Amino acid sequence: MASNGVTRVLVTGASGYVGAHVVQQLQKAGHVVRGTVRSTKNEQKIKPLKELCPDAAHELELVEADLQKEDGWASAVADCSHVIHVASPFPANNPTNEEEVIRPAVDGTMVILKAAVAAKVKRVVLTSSFVAVASFTKSGTFTEKDWNTGTNESPYNKSKTMAEKAAWDYVNELPDDSKIELAVINPSFILGPYLTSTKSTSGDVICQMLERQMPALPSISMPCIDVRDVAKAHVIAMTNDEAVGNRHILLSKNLWFQEICVILATEFKAQGYNPPTKVLPNFLVKFAAFFKTDLKQLVPQLDADIKGDNTRMREVLKIDPIPIEESVIDIGYSVIEKGWVKKTPKYKGRPQEETQENAVVDAAVEEEK
Ligand code: NAP
Repeated sequence: MASNGVTRVLVTGASGYVGAHVVQQLQKAGHVVRGTVRSTKNEQKIKPLKELCPDAAHELELVEADLQKEDGWASAVADCSHVIHVASPFPANNPTNEEEVIRPAVDGTMVILKAAVAAKVKRVVLTSSFVAVASFTKSGTFTEKDWNTGTNESPYNKSKTMAEKAAWDYVNELPDDSKIELAVINPSFILGPYLTSTKSTSGDVICQMLERQMPALPSISMPCIDVRDVAKAHVIAMTNDEAVGNRHILLSKNLWFQEICVILATEFKAQGYNPPTKVLPNFLVKFAAFFKTDLKQLVPQLDADIKGDNTRMREVLKIDPIPIEESVIDIGYSVIEKGWVKKTPKYKGRPQEETQENAVVDAAVEEEK
């Protein structure tokens, strides 16, 4: 039974790509977990959550709460010693009104922090993002001291930077008698397997690649990390005192879109998929951006080589990241198995050699007996 001063953990956005992994790891560690979802009646979202950890010592508690409403948060936080605040809108495309993303991210974070203070929660772990650290428009290596000060950022990038800043300002200004601890996690682009049945932006990008929605790729680089390492970082930051008062960049490797597609092609080409592996000349991307608004935001990022210092991830959180090639392949299989990308007639699924080898060894051991 896990304790470490942890009595019950509230995980916001339990139904999301990251949230579900956080819930699963907490349950596997023996914690009592309460998750927030927007609707407990959405069977498609709730069923996979209930099945995350069949052997859990404590059944997952689920409560309804919306980042845009104050109701529900006080009772969600009640009796929790720790809060892991993961929920935040992460749309695949920019909304016409940026406030649709910014308001739930910023106001939601504030509502949750205030509820946590009122309930005398010990520590809040906040999921921010590497986009709150770095603007992706200029090559460089970024550390936790950096803040994204870009002036032409997407609504999502603004929402993450503003929400994280608001959280630090609020916690730093709390009077001594109501102080709570804050630790922040800043993941780069997240890859790896899905535990839930709802596609999110990470899966969307991989679907577009596997479906060859573009014949060639813009020259864009993305620092990446596996979703299982992201969940692990949140769980460790919840009890590691060195995490308090700090940000933590989570990053395994910087991959260019082309490198992601080459990994996908190596695994999935023989199975009937044809991700693009050629790079579009920048002038063509700029020209196409006149007609496709989603491309417009990529133009300032062309050729920018974005790197991050992951020392705190390795030395404080003690995370030795899963090789990112494995994460790309795992998310590839997830989006096909979930039905978000059609199975081709040549699709065989994950190679079974290892399982077969194990079966042969098991049979040999049985015979020996
Ligand atoms: P996701 O699957 O879309 O998860 C987002 C979660 O936020 C969902 O559970 C969603 O609930 C919840 N949410 C959104 N708007 C809400 C609202 N108004 N009220 C209550 N809940 C709301 O995306 P994700 O990739 O797991 O993202 C999780 C967190 O990681 C976010 O904070 C995101 O900014 C951060 N992050 C993600 C990446 C990445 O590459 N994926 C990288 C860095 C940081 P519903 O299920 O009800 O929609």
